[in-house]
Amino acid sequence: MIPGATLGVEEVLAELTRLRSGDAPTHGGRTLAYVYDSGLAELDELAARAHAAAVSANGLDPTAFPSLLRMENDLVAAAIGLLGGGPDAVGTATSGGTESCLLAVLAAREGRRDVADPSVVVPSTVHAAFRKAGHLFGVRVVDVPVDPVTFRADPVATAAAVDDTTVLVVGSAPSYAHGVVDPIAELAAVAGDRGARMHVDACIGGWVLPYLRRGDADGRPPVFDLSVPGVTSLSVDLHKYAYCAKGVSVLLHAGPEQRRGHYFASADWPGYTMLNPTLQSTRSGGPIAAAWAVVRHVGDDGYAQLALSARAATERIRDGLAAIDGLRVLGDPDATLLAVALDGEPGFDLFTVADELAARGWHVQPQFPHRSSPANLHLTVTASNRGHEDALLTAVQEAVGAARAAGPVTIDADLAALIGALDPDTLTEQQFAGVLAAAGLDPATGDGAEPGHPLRLPERMAEINTMLAAASPRLRERLLAEFLGLLYRP
Ligand SMILES: *Cc1c(COP(=O)(O)O)cnc(C)c1O
Repeated sequence: MIPGATLGVEEVLAELTRLRSGDAPTHGGRTLAYVYDSGLAELDELAARAHAAAVSANGLDPTAFPSLLRMENDLVAAAIGLLGGGPDAVGTATSGGTESCLLAVLAAREGRRDVADPSVVVPSTVHAAFRKAGHLFGVRVVDVPVDPVTFRADPVATAAAVDDTTVLVVGSAPSYAHGVVDPIAELAAVAGDRGARMHVDACIGGWVLPYLRRGDADGRPPVFDLSVPGVTSLSVDLHKYAYCAKGVSVLLHAGPEQRRGHYFASADWPGYTMLNPTLQSTRSGGPIAAAWAVVRHVGDDGYAQLALSARAATERIRDGLAAIDGLRVLGDPDATLLAVALDGEPGFDLFTVADELAARGWHVQPQFPHRSSPANLHLTVTASNRGHEDALLTAVQEAVGAARAAGPVTIDADLAALIGALDPDTLTEQQFAGVLAAAGLDPATGDGAEPGHPLRLPERMAEINTMLAAASPRLRERLLAEFLGLLYRP
């Protein structure tokens, strides 16, 4: 409803500030997922001013707004320079990593219109964006188990999974869940041998790994970019480690021929001929201009510094976490992401550790068990964590101590029985309401955090996370989608 009486500018902004005060902090390195903090004081204002200067411009027509064309070409050129593109390389600015991954799959499918039942072969650790692409574009997703200990893709098993329907093979640099880089050269060779394309999902690592490679005489992590023979596309999110305002990723292709398939044109209506390089049509100039300004301001030397800081913080935090009794780090993380799991059965619960960290103002992301990957806590480490590693490690020590004292999570027997009996494919609204009530989240009786808000999340999530961890992925999808549908009620 549009309110009848208008609010003054200052009043509206005060209201916004009040709303935002309930959010996870986006600066200071205490939120170790979702947000990326360079620690550079001036970046926010620069991005905000550049965003404001272009937000009214529309990327729908680059001839009407040539500034956006220029800035996008500059961003793509920067990405090509950093990520090994040859003279033919081209790219597209998208709204984010998921859109870049979607378009990579779409372009590969369109490049092989002769394949009636196209498929994409991915490691089981691949980002869920590729499942979304399969779902949206009718492409089968064939996933190949990764090495159970290193969590890296297995080129031999991948070769066995590739067949005549394969239009694309994907590898991650690094994977989100474990932060390890897949053997890209081997995967690309497998793809090339079978005439399939190869996409490198460097959404999260693409603006960090090249700088780490430069600084490391051993060339670790190994080369993963467009210079690897057989790699045909690569995605890199500027709104992650390029520390740009949210809403920008770049999808690179080895040449215009590979890119063509994600362009869309329609002249079959009485309006303007619709010409879209991405899924969007009207495209705000704001995120492009903000990214362009930030990339120009920080520059190559600045990014090298930021990448080395984030990596140094990651190594320090990795070592500190591994030294805490009862914890271990999964795999051998190559970049700036960590996954920390329980070491054996140490007598405390990991999800309680997450709750205890939240109570101390630190936010980590629970990851549920998946095949050989046990339940763990994800940490996205950024440059702002450098120099403050001990504060985090101390908080984790305290949280583990509190979790030990609290003992194992006890699951409500009624709730467990209820969830155990659910079939994800026939879940009814009543059944879901029953689950919510048993979990103490009943919208009818719960008092919301905001007037009219249907739900308030409990302060402690350990019990709910334990239940969700025990559910099958399919049931978890269904339960959480229902939950989301309840949150988004006006
Ligand atoms: C973040 C991420 C994505 C998806 O990016 P969004 O910007 O969240 O849409 C895809 N792949 C990897 C490896 C990522 O880390």
